[in-house]
Order: sequence, then C-alpha cells, then structure tokens
Amino acid sequence: MTHRDAGSLERKVVGSSLASTDIVARIALIVPCTEAEGPGRRLAIWFQGCPLRCPGCCNPHFLPFTGGEELTVTEVLRVMDDSHQRNQLEGITLLGGEPTAQAAAAAAIARGAQERGLTVLLFSGYTLEQLRDKQDPAVHDLLACTDILVDGPYDQTQPETRRRWIGSANQRIHFLTPRCSWDERWLQKNTLEIRLVGKEIIVNGYPASGTRMIRQWQKSQTR
Ligand code: SF4
Repeated sequence: MTHRDAGSLERKVVGSSLASTDIVARIALIVPCTEAEGPGRRLAIWFQGCPLRCPGCCNPHFLPFTGGEELTVTEVLRVMDDSHQRNQLEGITLLGGEPTAQAAAAAAIARGAQERGLTVLLFSGYTLEQLRDKQDPAVHDLLACTDILVDGPYDQTQPETRRRWIGSANQRIHFLTPRCSWDERWLQKNTLEIRLVGKEIIVNGYPASGTRMIRQWQKSQTR
C-alpha cells in the first residue's frame, strides 16, 4: 500500500526499547495520506515483519523482519506532521506486517498521533485477547494508544464482503476509546489508490473481496 517520497523518508522501521522518539522501527512503507486504509484521510504505516503466516497473505514481502528500512520515531512523526499540515488528517493506520511485533515503536508513533489529535487504527493478526495476554508491556502501551483495533488472522476461506477495509469475516473491529465509533463509512465500497512516485507505481487499498494490491508495489521495486 503506499509509497515513499522523493527523499525516501516514508519507508522504514525496527522496534526496541529506548526512550520513545529515539526508538527505531523497521518500516516497509508509509503513505502520507490515504483514504483507502480506514475512515477519513490517514497516514498509513506498514511495519516490516510478521511472525504469523496466514495462508493467502497478500503482503508476503512484508513478512521477513530483514526487509524495509529503518526510521526513528522522530522521523516518522516528522512525516506525520508534514502530512497533517498539508492534508488535515483524521488519523493514522498501523498495519503490516505485524505492528505489534514492533510494539515499542508502534506505541511511540501511536502516542505521538494521539497527542496531535489524530485517531489510531491498528490492524493486528492477533486477537485482542491474545494481545492482552502478551507479557510485553509495549504491547499494552500500544493498545492504550489505539482507538480502533481490527484483530485476528486473515482467513482466506472467509473473505469479507460487507465491511470496508476488513480482509476476512472472522476479523473483529474493536472501538477501544470513545473517540471513534461505528459509522456508515465502514460499509461503503472499498477503494484503490494508485500513485506514481518518481519511477515507482504505488497501489494501496482493496481492489475487491479484500484482496490487497501491494504486489503492484513490489513489482515496481524489481525493475
Ligand atoms: S497477520 Fe497479516 S501480514 Fe501477518 S501473515 Fe497474517 S495476513 Fe499476512
């Protein structure tokens, strides 16, 4: 899903436990402003690396923890500020890959978003119960800074046909704070966004039946 800008500042990350803005994340991709990854205009951040292996995963090139690029939280927040100033964002979306696998970085980014008045939408392959059971305090920090969680692994046998932005019917939407609630936007048709950035074509969103088109982005990287 998204792209990098001319300075290549928008792809990257790696989580660890330093003090907040110095944390480095390994990030696959950042799209500064999209309307195809959650309600309203959002900054979308794809974390690189996922320990899960859902059959039919549409982002297989985001699964290794060795790809992507490294960015500090400060650098990500700079992209966020720039986009928010230009686009008046409603929020940010964290997806991947698995954002909770880099929970410290994701939590710091989410906290920075909320401090800027933005809402935080998190996609995780783990269920809410599994996340709450994790011993990693950074995961709990991330949940505390999340307004909307879409949880659970992608199940290719249950493609979602009704709810927008959701891959499979087993995945649940949790509104974790009063800042967000269900509205009709979650039932509108899915959309695709296509960008030409330098020599790259970046495609994000859902073309149909929850099938992500990030492969188009991957293809553009191999030229
Ligand atoms: S959790 Fe998401 S990124 Fe990870 S394997 Fe499943 S579908 Fe792919």
